[in-house]
Amino acid sequence: MMGVSAYECSEHSGLHIDSERSLMEIVDESGNQIEEGRGKILATSLHNFAMPFIRYETGDLGHITDTNCSCGRGSKILKEIIGRDKELLKTPTGKCIHGAAFFNDVFAEITNVNDIIEFQIVQKKIDYIVINMVCKSDFNTNELDQIKDIIRKRSEGWNVEFKVVDNINRTKAGKYKFIISELNNQ
Ligand SMILES: [Zn+2]
Repeated sequence: MMGVSAYECSEHSGLHIDSERSLMEIVDESGNQIEEGRGKILATSLHNFAMPFIRYETGDLGHITDTNCSCGRGSKILKEIIGRDKELLKTPTGKCIHGAAFFNDVFAEITNVNDIIEFQIVQKKIDYIVINMVCKSDFNTNELDQIKDIIRKRSEGWNVEFKVVDNINRTKAGKYKFIISELNNQ
């Protein structure tokens, strides 16, 4: 459900948190990590990445449990994700994808990721996604095909269009919105 940052096993008891590619923390209202119960989901990328996420507030709530899964894997289990914000993307096949985790992993696979300064994902339609990108002047647009390939491999029937922009608008509060879903506006 959430790209490769968390995955469901055959026991279907929740989502195993993959701690090799990224760190996911559930924190209480004071920002302290909790092992059991509900809280905000923070994501930290472990990739050497142009725009690393360090305790990025995903806008979602998660319910973590310290009970081990019966499949025997030791990784922690997220029982439930409660999407609070609009950071969940939908696919034509009916899945929900955690946008920040998914695209963080996609961009981490790109060869010259450091030529991309920042980017923003906008879901316009169930099968149509626009990626706004701020790039260095020597960015090679051949890489766009590579990004499309990676997205196609990992999902999900989306048509992807790239827009190279000078900058990415902040909200009135100055917040950088990494994921925007316009689905509910239609
Ligand atoms: Zn399991």
